[in-house]
Amino acid sequence: MKGKKIAIVAHCILNQNSVVNGLERAEGAFNEIIELLLKKNYAIIQLPCPEMLFLGIDRKGRTKEEYDTDEYRKLCREVLKSIIKYLKEYSKEEFKFILIGIEGSPTCGIFKTVTKEGLIDGSGILMEEFLKMLEDNKIHIKKFDFPVNIFFT
Ligand code: SF4
Repeated sequence: MKGKKIAIVAHCILNQNSVVNGLERAEGAFNEIIELLLKKNYAIIQLPCPEMLFLGIDRKGRTKEEYDTDEYRKLCREVLKSIIKYLKEYSKEEFKFILIGIEGSPTCGIFKTVTKEGLIDGSGILMEEFLKMLEDNKIHIKKFDFPVNIFFT
């Protein structure tokens, strides 16, 4: 029987090798989150890492303003298209979704992002685009940012 629970996670929740050099917080994945998801029988869909696709592995850290270009937003929407397609299909059978972002990321923060003013309330570029696409497609999802605010059941 299908559990019908899917966690959609920022790429680097599963792969810290994708983050800006020196900012990694684990050798591989954030094991504690993954272990919790698996224990609660969540399936996992990994979002792409748009920063890696846009600027590569040796990029420097940037603010949200520095990433906020038409080109980068377009890339984010492109990589999200197949994810939305998956979720639309699963929605037909009333799956439950949760989304886990990265607190403070200019790309993958959901509730907090980094700007030239520092850490502020708001989403990063990928999550802004993703949340719009989810709303346009009437897909409901519970949202959390790592490392705070992870209380899923
Ligand atoms: S862009 Fe997102 S997935 Fe990639 S390293 Fe930054 S926070 Fe992680």
